[in-house]
Amino acid sequence: MTQVVIVGAGPTGTALALLLVQRGISVTLVEAAKDFYRVFRGEGLMPSGLDALEQMGLSSLLEQVPHRPLHAWEFIIDNKPLFRVAEPMGSHYPCTLVSQPPLLEALIAKAHLYPGFEFIQGISVKDLIWNGDRASGVKLADGREISAELVIGTDGRNSVVRQCAELELVKQPKSIEVLWFKLPAHPQFVAENVFWSILNRNQGFSIFHGAEIGKLHLAWVLSANDKTDWKNTDWAETFASLSPSWLAEHFRHCAETIEPPIRLSVVVGRCPSWHKPGVMLLGDAAHPMSPVRAQGINLALRDVIVAANHLVPLLKVGASNPAIDLALSQIQIEREEEIIRAQQLQLQEANQGEKLRKNAFARALVMYLAPLIRKRLQASWMKRQAELRQGITQVTLVV
Ligand SMILES: Cc1cc2nc3c(=O)[nH]c(=O)nc-3n(C[C@H](O)[C@H](O)[C@H](O)COP(=O)(O)OP(=O)(O)OC[C@H]3O[C@@H](n4cnc5c(N)ncnc54)[C@H](O)[C@@H]3O)c2cc1C
Repeated sequence: MTQVVIVGAGPTGTALALLLVQRGISVTLVEAAKDFYRVFRGEGLMPSGLDALEQMGLSSLLEQVPHRPLHAWEFIIDNKPLFRVAEPMGSHYPCTLVSQPPLLEALIAKAHLYPGFEFIQGISVKDLIWNGDRASGVKLADGREISAELVIGTDGRNSVVRQCAELELVKQPKSIEVLWFKLPAHPQFVAENVFWSILNRNQGFSIFHGAEIGKLHLAWVLSANDKTDWKNTDWAETFASLSPSWLAEHFRHCAETIEPPIRLSVVVGRCPSWHKPGVMLLGDAAHPMSPVRAQGINLALRDVIVAANHLVPLLKVGASNPAIDLALSQIQIEREEEIIRAQQLQLQEANQGEKLRKNAFARALVMYLAPLIRKRLQASWMKRQAELRQGITQVTLVV
């Protein structure tokens, strides 16, 4: 019998599997997708996530996968620059775009070096197995059953483990959808990778160079009651009409090669309880994150460190079920403060952008006063970013 079955090989599941097998715990990791190249996986790693990878001894592995540091953040409002902030903003690392599929593959390859690791790919988990009121394994879609001392659900925002364990998810009320575009890079982004937030009239988008060479990523938010006929919109012209002239020219120049957008529903929320006897949720399964300021992967990696700190000493000595179940509640308690705060800060960021987008007078006033208040705006933005970049609590791998 494997000690731990982990459901879902995203950043949370793969990193946790690796930490556990490296410490002598046997792990079966189950991933529904046949490979890691699904339509969309986020790329932004903040200093807190890069620090988590360093603590896991994985910095050199990061060097082997496509990645690209961000050089600055710049805000353009109604075609005029509001302010720019250069990375790394006092942090040890700059925010870095990392291609997730090769990173996940590298983590799996590393886990395979340890005898206690099994990876089942291309088959989804359908249900949990219960022994009385304690989860004791999972049922796969092909009928196989895997027994384990502990089930960990790292199967993302639509978690099946969460549903099967009847753990409630309380969602943030305002849901959004994001259209995610890819397009050829403009040389300016190659020389200097700036994350531009562009707001013009009552519309806006963010654009930056992703980890993949020569590709820009563009995120366009559709709010809940947005009636945009996005399939029939002339996007190149829409983006161009909102952009400074050098970028507008680029959109028009590469109009034919802008890839059709991927439509992503954003679920944000938190489970009041992340666990039941024998089963725990981590990462997006426990607290699906908004894409604002790239938090989800970073927080997931920090969940993994805290989970390993609590679980490894117990699993190594074959601790009792009650001791393991107590550790599950301690993991949630230790992580919750940071998750709650990060979700609040993400919401504040989104609301601030939304207020400016909807209020032409506020935009005009900010831009009129910009020469006087630019430095203050910049300083207050940087202050708000500090927690989102560095994390809120101290997270140190001790096992
Ligand atoms: C538009 C958008 C952009 C984002 N950009 C960023 C960013 O730049 N930086 C950042 O830090 N965060 C970003 N996020 C958030 C980030 O993507 C998530 O927080 C992060 O992926 C969570 O990792 P995870 O491992 O918990 O879950 P996931 O990455 O969702 O991985 C879950 C895995 O479980 C598998 N799975 C699902 N169901 C089953 C099942 N039944 N059986 C077996 N396997 C299953 C899935 O195939 C998947 O591989 C973004 C989110 C959105 C919506």
